[in-house]
Amino acid sequence: MTTISKIIKEIWKDHTLLFNKEYQNALSMDLEELKRIIKIDINKNLSYIHSIDSELFSEVMLPSIGCSHRLNNGDLCGCSFCDYVSDYIVSMAQMNALKAKNKNEYALMMRYAFDQSRGQSPIASVAEVLTSYDTLDLEEFPQELFEMLFKDKDLYSKKPFQLEFETRASSVTLEKLEHWKQELPFRRVMVRLGVEVEDEWMRNHWLNKNISNSQIIAAVKNIHSVGWKANANLLLGIPGLTEGQAVEELVKSAIWAYDIGFDNIVISYLGRVGNSLQNYLYKYFAHNEVLNQAKVVNGEYTSLQSIFSFFIFFEKVYTKCPDIINKIGFSVFYTDVNKKLLGKLYKSLGVECLIENAIIELMNFNQKRDPKRLLDIKKKLEESPLYTWYQENILSSEINNVHETMKLVVQELAKHFWPNMWEEVLNKFITEI
Ligand code: SF4
Repeated sequence: MTTISKIIKEIWKDHTLLFNKEYQNALSMDLEELKRIIKIDINKNLSYIHSIDSELFSEVMLPSIGCSHRLNNGDLCGCSFCDYVSDYIVSMAQMNALKAKNKNEYALMMRYAFDQSRGQSPIASVAEVLTSYDTLDLEEFPQELFEMLFKDKDLYSKKPFQLEFETRASSVTLEKLEHWKQELPFRRVMVRLGVEVEDEWMRNHWLNKNISNSQIIAAVKNIHSVGWKANANLLLGIPGLTEGQAVEELVKSAIWAYDIGFDNIVISYLGRVGNSLQNYLYKYFAHNEVLNQAKVVNGEYTSLQSIFSFFIFFEKVYTKCPDIINKIGFSVFYTDVNKKLLGKLYKSLGVECLIENAIIELMNFNQKRDPKRLLDIKKKLEESPLYTWYQENILSSEINNVHETMKLVVQELAKHFWPNMWEEVLNKFITEI
């Protein structure tokens, strides 16, 4: 087991206990009673299931059994930066029990969730995201579910121009894609892959993704071979790195994603959520002296990416690879999180309007693709007091080497989790580098 898996399991251990208790509890229930409880739960969470709704874009995230990589056979682990489920552990346990009892009922329940949240036979938005966590994984998205959703001609009363779904690159095979292509009633399909970073070691030994670069390259090739499009999700704000290091990784990752042929590259902001490593660092290490010195944590601002990082990233990537601007986009989630959590700082520096403008320009970029506007805003940001704050608090770390930074983070995490054997854990991590 890698050191990062050991750490992630430790972070999730209380949820593992809860999951297994609730799973056994749900298994012991009568099927009708279990279905009744799940339906109540679904109706409570409709806005989470159908989170985005506009004429252009709509998103339904099916409340499935969860991603197999996170479930890890009941010993919760998964990617270090991700947490979609810690608030929904009981629901996830119940869905797992329902599927174990009857796959068809599981499929029916997911259809129920779609109908309740999206409405029956809705007029589709231009692009519809209809996804589970790992949609091409037959454990999470069995054939029964595929048929329940996609063989029904009335899923949408007017079909979307584009259907999108997420999956892990390891679940993409030509055989599955050809099967889906044959059966799916949509002309244009975009498959979203969590690439996260270009550095394979970092992806697997730090983000705990367990996906190789060759799997990603093969997935893109297979997606293209059936005439579909491939979207890469990349991360801004890799937990446990300094913000400057995270930006450098993002620049390399975006260029790599472009070079291997992704049609779309989305820069996602990592929020401080639940059991994610970035939130754990905030909750327990925000004032840790060693990590503060290394600029990995910064009190209240720990694990928040300043808006500067987007613009610095943009300028670097645009300078190195100008054509990339036709493929790159910024995830909308950043705006609210950024304003809410960094608002106090912006106010104290008197840069609220400038930030408001910067966020609008970032979002506009997704449609207008005008690099000059972003570069102009970057210049204005550099002339503002925010830049001084950014230089002092974010950029002045003496450690440039990413592995040295990671060693410090593992050292502090190991002391926290295993005070009597932290050196052993750290040494094991060092052998993995
Ligand atoms: S990022 Fe994707 S693969 Fe990783 S744990 Fe989250 S849902 Fe699963």
